[in-house]
Amino acid sequence: MSLEDTLDRLVVDVIDYPKPGIVFKDITPLLADHAGFTEVVEALAVAGRDADGRPIVDKVLGMEARGFILAAPVALALGAGFIPVRKAGKLPRETHAVSYSLEYGDATLELHQDAVAPGERVLLVDDVIATGGTVAATIDLVRRSGAEVVGVAALMELAALAGRTAIGTDVPITALMQV
Ligand code: AMP
Repeated sequence: MSLEDTLDRLVVDVIDYPKPGIVFKDITPLLADHAGFTEVVEALAVAGRDADGRPIVDKVLGMEARGFILAAPVALALGAGFIPVRKAGKLPRETHAVSYSLEYGDATLELHQDAVAPGERVLLVDDVIATGGTVAATIDLVRRSGAEVVGVAALMELAALAGRTAIGTDVPITALMQV
């Protein structure tokens, strides 16, 4: 069975959640399936390897909250450290913060100032790229620390929302599935 079949089978569309007009991609059935979860973690980790399969990243960043669940095993698969990017007020020590626009209102993401060191190579992992705002804000945070974003890996990209355009072309984006 292909990776696309796995995602089709185990990521469930929830219509009009959390509000009318949104089709929410529920990854909890995928997380509950050992074979499926293993398959997608390996596929995401490819974005952090060179052509010979050698890891090329020092840190894997996951964005709160579903990004944590995917990024942590990807970090272990790559022999890298895991770093959480959190919503405002959740990290206990000094942070860099970036605010960005959501469909309705604003959001702020934070990264501990010492989480990534200047020159470190970083892979970002999240479940869904929608407008790309979350990824673009996280790239901004990483660059403030002087580290380098070598790639972004996500399970799904909602192509109609043009997240790639918002993120820009200087960072490679791997989406296991486009919907
Ligand atoms: P965006 O910043 O618009 O690219 O939105 C991406 C973030 O919102 C990710 O952290 C996703 O977990 C979440 N998200 C956005 N749209 C969806 C959706 N349709 N289903 C599930 N999660 C979503």
